[in-house]
Amino acid sequence: MSGQNPAVRLLEERGVSLDAVAEIVCQIQQGYYPGLTPEECLQSVLKVVEKREVQYAVLTGVALDMLAEQESLPSPLQEIVARDDFLYGVDEILALSITNVYGSIGLTNFGYLDKSKPGLIGQLDSSEGRVNTFLDDLVAGIAAAAAAKIAHQRQ
Ligand code: MG
Repeated sequence: MSGQNPAVRLLEERGVSLDAVAEIVCQIQQGYYPGLTPEECLQSVLKVVEKREVQYAVLTGVALDMLAEQESLPSPLQEIVARDDFLYGVDEILALSITNVYGSIGLTNFGYLDKSKPGLIGQLDSSEGRVNTFLDDLVAGIAAAAAAKIAHQRQ
């Protein structure tokens, strides 16, 4: 499914399938749009990851996670990213560049996902021995944008 999309390939390498992201999208939108299908949610996720700015955000954030995992970042960034310092916040800011693609509904969705951490997002947040400081927010950003896209389409 990843085809030539380098961001999708990288997400899959880091344990994130687009199906799992679509599941989160369906979860947060089902209450508003009964009859919403998993296929519709997946299509929306696919549209989001097609966008170049989304791909660049994923490539950037995941690279920082991987470098921190290999202890290859310069200090003090190494320690900050590795321990996911809660005052850091650049991971959320990067993810917001994804969410912004579909306006303020995306922003609200992101805030909700960041707080409630459903499904895969919560699992990524607490993976032992892995640095997923950026990845959890990137996934929340993609899911939030895909949910916002559905909201716009259904209007
Ligand atoms: Mg994070």
